[in-house]
Amino acid sequence: MRVQAYSSHDRSSSAVPPAFLEKFDKVELHIHLDGSVRPETIWEISQRKGIHLASSSADYRSSLVTKEPSNLANFLAPIATYLPVIA
Ligand SMILES: [Zn+2]
Repeated sequence: MRVQAYSSHDRSSSAVPPAFLEKFDKVELHIHLDGSVRPETIWEISQRKGIHLASSSADYRSSLVTKEPSNLANFLAPIATYLPVIA
């Protein structure tokens, strides 16, 4: 079966409703290594390298979370803060 991406602008009979797609398991098709490191791992390496990221691991973890709707640049900004740690 050919599944066409659903769009609220596309009301044709071939569009698949989101409720139907939610029944299927999903797989990650596109993920970046530098955006996939566990916060705990970044914290541990930063401690070993003596790189200050935050006052505690909990504070650091919290700083990585996007708390309100934003844009892609703001969503990705935390990556730049830990690149020196994982480089
Ligand atoms: Zn990408």
